[in-house]
Amino acid sequence: MKARDPIADLRRIAFLLERANEATYRVRAFRSAAKALAGLPAAEVTERAGNGTLTKLAGVGDVTARCVAESLAGEEPVYLRRLVATEGSDLDAEATALRVALRGDCHTHSDWSDGGSPIEEMALAAVELGHEYMVLTDHSPRLKVARGLTADRLRRQLDHVAQVNAALPEGFRILTGIEVDILADGSLDQDEELLARLDVVVGSVHSGLNDERTKMTRRMLTAVANPHLDILGHCTGRMVSSRPAGVTGPGDRGHRARTRGESDFDADAVFAACVEHDTAVEINSRPERQDPPKRLIRRALEAGCLFAINTDAHAPGQLDWQRFGCERAARCGVPADRVVNTWSAKHLVEWAGDRS
Ligand SMILES: [Zn+2]
Ligand SMILES: [Zn+2]
Repeated sequence: MKARDPIADLRRIAFLLERANEATYRVRAFRSAAKALAGLPAAEVTERAGNGTLTKLAGVGDVTARCVAESLAGEEPVYLRRLVATEGSDLDAEATALRVALRGDCHTHSDWSDGGSPIEEMALAAVELGHEYMVLTDHSPRLKVARGLTADRLRRQLDHVAQVNAALPEGFRILTGIEVDILADGSLDQDEELLARLDVVVGSVHSGLNDERTKMTRRMLTAVANPHLDILGHCTGRMVSSRPAGVTGPGDRGHRARTRGESDFDADAVFAACVEHDTAVEINSRPERQDPPKRLIRRALEAGCLFAINTDAHAPGQLDWQRFGCERAARCGVPADRVVNTWSAKHLVEWAGDRS
């Protein structure tokens, strides 16, 4: 039988584990093995698989070595086969229709800030999911715990993204962006000139989440009125469950698992401002966020808001979490044409640009 690509199989397993929210150490085992093998000539990998010395390599264990041997023998690794067999979509028709309509993701992180993987890996996973674009939205400078990007680092990232884009398959593009902190006075935590240059700007509140109602409302209204802000990220800041099992280490900013209530603000005023300034409201798909709650999604829908169904992925497998957001959006009756990431990259970028 013709040998399979063992590195691709290891990466696929890591992706599926991550998507299923499995423990990080397990995901990491497959990613490290893929990395170790990628650094070797193919002949050496085959030879080591033959004489059983793969496990002598740093990063390769018994389980991953078995997968490699099976791949090289031309079989789909048993581990992979089992994962593929147990995955599957439990979405109903409305949620599936919404998921299928999504052409990209407007909120993703890389290891430039607090994500766990390089930009290239995130992009490849987005390609595999069938996306046409992924907006890269690493954090802004004030969010030091998340290694927020200074203006200089963001400029460097823009150059890097241009290079990565040149090497990616045609029909897919990384769009430039940021998850910019909404500061205490409602201003945005990045240079004006840079915000203007980015394709899409997501703005979120990450500090002072317990601000009292009038202060928080004013803060959010100021941000929404900022012509650079395109999408209002996870607007209530709530954490409904402790972090998912798969998210520890670099992806979770080193915080302890905890829950958190919603920030207090005048949602009707904020959503009305979103309509007035043509700012989209994010439906954040992360299982521990589920933000905004459904009652607020319905209020935003009635107000006439646009939405973005985003993953806020900090690792490649999490890019598939959009289905959770679709499920909640579908329950609230959000139609596909009100969701900005059902639009083409061109349409999305024009919309975001017009508004600045
Ligand atoms: Zn955030
Ligand atoms: Zn984020």
